[in-house]
Parts: sequence; structure tokens; C-alpha cells
Amino acid sequence: MATHSPQVQSLGSTLLERIGNTPLLRLEQLATNLPGVQLLAKAEWANPGGSVKDRAACSIVTAAMKQGKLGRGQHLLDATSGNTGIAYAMLGAAMGFPVTLCVPANVSPERKRILSAYGANVVWTDPNDGSDGAIRKARALAAADPEKYYYADQYGNNANWQAHYNGTANEIWKQTSGQLTHFIAGLGTSGTFVGTTRRLKELNPEIQCISMQPDSPFNGLEGLKHMATAIVPPIYDPSLADRDVEIETEAAYRMAKRLARTEGLLVGVSSGAAVAASLRVAEEEAAAGREAVIVTILPDSADKYLSERFWEEEQADA
Ligand code: PMP
Repeated sequence: MATHSPQVQSLGSTLLERIGNTPLLRLEQLATNLPGVQLLAKAEWANPGGSVKDRAACSIVTAAMKQGKLGRGQHLLDATSGNTGIAYAMLGAAMGFPVTLCVPANVSPERKRILSAYGANVVWTDPNDGSDGAIRKARALAAADPEKYYYADQYGNNANWQAHYNGTANEIWKQTSGQLTHFIAGLGTSGTFVGTTRRLKELNPEIQCISMQPDSPFNGLEGLKHMATAIVPPIYDPSLADRDVEIETEAAYRMAKRLARTEGLLVGVSSGAAVAASLRVAEEEAAAGREAVIVTILPDSADKYLSERFWEEEQADA
């Protein structure tokens, strides 16, 4: 009789398996006076690297490896305002490839520490040139040494929005039992908005998909772009949005504080902006007497922004 060695069952989960499937939270206090309206938000800080960008980075890395584009000790190279860099750095450490990032030198000290803790190589770029300067630098490095670098190009890489087409959108659909009426997300690379919207519109073309961006290029809302003045990401498709809402930096700050104090959610400034836009739509729907299930994205927590001055200022009415 053949003897069988007992199968050792794999316990726990890998880092990659922990990306996605984030909770959908109900923002109870904000919607109290809005009859018939539910405000819901995806808690993207629950991803292992602490932000929504784990999804895009994982999708980009996995696709590049499958296509044989990232191999033989090549560096993954990209421009990033922070969260994508953190995600790449985390994945590079876990999966064993070197990571080189072009980052504007004025990102918060917390972010600098995180990137170096994961062991990423960082090329600092002129803060006056913003994220566009970082993009130009990454393109120049990639062009100068294509053997050394795999240029991940999150702004032009379809695997970015596909992460949300395959993941985020289907999660939202399931978590709301298909009942959502509105989807609202901020625009950075636009991957979150583009991918989630493409899939949601297939599932129900009636869902109103609203993009959100800062009202000025001089905003302090890390992760978001003012599309009229930025290098427009090649993956961005403005025709997908039923509507675009612009949010002032101060309104985003006020909402970030309000979420901390009334919902117990200590989230980043782009989350504040996303909820400010969502509340605007919620108030319009309630005023028109319509029922609505509004879903937005909370891209990250406040951890990396706690040194920003606005947290110290007195709470104003949001
Ligand atoms: N918020 C934060 C904090 C981000 O880091 C990003 C990514 N740049 C976004 C929002 C926008 O996400 P996306 O790149 O998918 O448009």
C-alpha cells in the first residue's frame, strides 16, 4: 500500500491576497438629515500598503511579469506622488525586484520614511514642477537606459484602470446588491474613476458616475490632479463622466476634519474632497426628493498627512 505524506496545508495569506476586498462603510452622521439618501465609502486604507494604489500597482506588476517585461533584476521605474510608490516599494520588497521612483521633493516626511523603509531608490524632482516634473524625469531615465528599467507608466498603463474594472467595481456592485445610484471618485491618474465607471456602466448604465478634481492647480490635495492644467493621463477618458465636480482645497480640509470628528474616520485630504463632492450630490438628491445610494472612495488614511497644518486649525463648519 502506498504511503502518502500528509499534505501541509498553507496557513495565513500572502500580501498580494490581502489587496482589495475592502470594507464599504456607511457614513451615518453626514446623511442624518438627508431622507432617502445613503452615503457609502470604500475604506481603501485597509489595503496592506495603506491606500487604493495597492490595487493598481499590483495589477501593473502582475501584468508586466506575465508579459515578461519585468524580469532579470530589472528595476521597476515610475513617477509617483507617493501612494503608488509606497505600493510598488512594498511589492518590490515582497516579490524581490528593485524599485526606482521619481518623486517631487516636497512630499511629506512620513512618505519619505516609508519609501526608504521598504528599501526603494528615490530620485527627487523639483517640487515646483509637481507631479508633471516627476513624470518627465521618469520618462528621461527610462529612455536613457531601457535595459535597466521597466517603466511602469501608471498614467498610461491599462493595467491601472483594469484593477478597478476587475476589482473595485465588482466589489461595490456586490456590497450594494446592485442598488447604487451614484459613484463618485477623485481624479489622479484617473485609474480608479475610469476602471470602476467602465464596469459599473456595463452592469447598469443608469448609474451616475461623477468625477471629482481640485478647483485649482495650486491645491494641497495630494494624489489629485487639476486636469485642465496637468499633463492629461493617457488612460483618462473624460467622456465617461456624467458630471465633473470641482472641490476647493479648504472644503476638502474641512471635510477631512469633520469625518474625523463626526464619523471617527481619520482619512486623507483626497478622501475629504471625495466626501465633500458626495455630500453635495446627496444634498441635491434629497432636495429633489429622490432616493439615492451614493458610493465614493476613501483612497487613504490621514497617517501620512498628520504634519499638515490644517489639522491644528479650529474646526470650522463644513
Ligand atoms: N487620492 C490619493 C491619496 C491618491 O494617492 C491617488 C492616486 N494618485 C488618488 C486619490 C487618485 O487615484 P487615481 O490615480 O486612481 O485617479
